[in-house]
Amino acid sequence: MHKALDAVGGKKEPVVILGSTGSIGRSAVDILRAQPGGFRVVGLAAGSVSETFLGQIREFRPNCAAVGDQREARRLRDSGIIKELGGKPKILHGEKGLEYLASMPGVKKVLNAVCGNVGILPSIAAVSSGKTLLLANKEALVSAGKLITAAAKKYGGEILPVDSEHSAIFQCLQAENHRAIGKIILTASGGPFFNKKNHGKITPKMALKHPKWKMGKKITIDSATLMNKGMEIIETSWLFGVPVGKIEILIHPECIIHSMVEFIDGVILAQMSVPDMRIPINYALNYPVRIASDYSVPVDFRKVSRLNFHSLDISKYPCVELAVEAARAGGLLPTVLSAADEVAVDAFLGERIGFDDIPGIIDCALNWAKDTIAGERVTLESILEADRSARLKAGEAVGAR
Ligand code: MN
Repeated sequence: MHKALDAVGGKKEPVVILGSTGSIGRSAVDILRAQPGGFRVVGLAAGSVSETFLGQIREFRPNCAAVGDQREARRLRDSGIIKELGGKPKILHGEKGLEYLASMPGVKKVLNAVCGNVGILPSIAAVSSGKTLLLANKEALVSAGKLITAAAKKYGGEILPVDSEHSAIFQCLQAENHRAIGKIILTASGGPFFNKKNHGKITPKMALKHPKWKMGKKITIDSATLMNKGMEIIETSWLFGVPVGKIEILIHPECIIHSMVEFIDGVILAQMSVPDMRIPINYALNYPVRIASDYSVPVDFRKVSRLNFHSLDISKYPCVELAVEAARAGGLLPTVLSAADEVAVDAFLGERIGFDDIPGIIDCALNWAKDTIAGERVTLESILEADRSARLKAGEAVGAR
């Protein structure tokens, strides 16, 4: 039976999913399940062992499965899954596991949907082995955009954005000359607190209620502080080679327009769809082919009735200011921004700091970096070191609150 499956599978596109139990990962799995003739999942990675992860392994029988650390690898082995599946999958763990999956021989497409800076190494590994990196992990580009884009260029790797705004920009730029870009208009829902005065003390529960998108915890908090949008400016800059000064945030609460490109001749192209992450994931998986699915429901403009737009007062959103500042300074500062943000968001979710303390924690780490490592050369080693030090500095700042 396995041989027969492999024979059929040989014609299918092998794909690896990193972060398969997260919000994006689970959506990707749904999409792949609905396109059984198109793909074969040969590698899956998740931080920890869960029923969801075991179910995915049973369903797709990947050659390799990776988990966060040695303890989780032992749990996966002890689950009896290898015996159940007749010898599969090979079990890996940690950074090495992610890097192995990202550069697996015979695979062309790697979806990186892990959360946070842990996505840096597998992103570099994927493009350095000439693969198409379907990138949902924006932190990798924020922290190591220079290395990832340079490695893609050097080794013939390709980066396809999965982030909805960047997928939109990518689609607007098909067959366009990047030199004709006047401006990129990055749309933003504004998160749960936009234009709301006096919300009192913001609890994790309040901040986790995003008005339009159902996502993982970290990105939902980043959306509430608008750090997500700040990071998306940096992501846009690396993906499309556009300077930060040409990227503008526009609040658009309906989340129908996912971003726009303004060209030098005054023409603006916008990409629209209902807000459903399966649409950009499906696009990236099948690019350049468009595939219909049951969630491929076009926007009904009569029902939407009107689209609203507001400018963003950056002074009210310190996280956006910090991101823009880090982007302009460049070097290792965006790495520090991303690492410190992870620590701050984690501390907020653990109720060790308040919502309004988040930018202060990140600012502490950035100030430390400005005085110490700002001028250092950007290498993989210096990035990983900046990530570690920034976590320590941010952790100290959390402890001091
Ligand atoms: Mn986004």
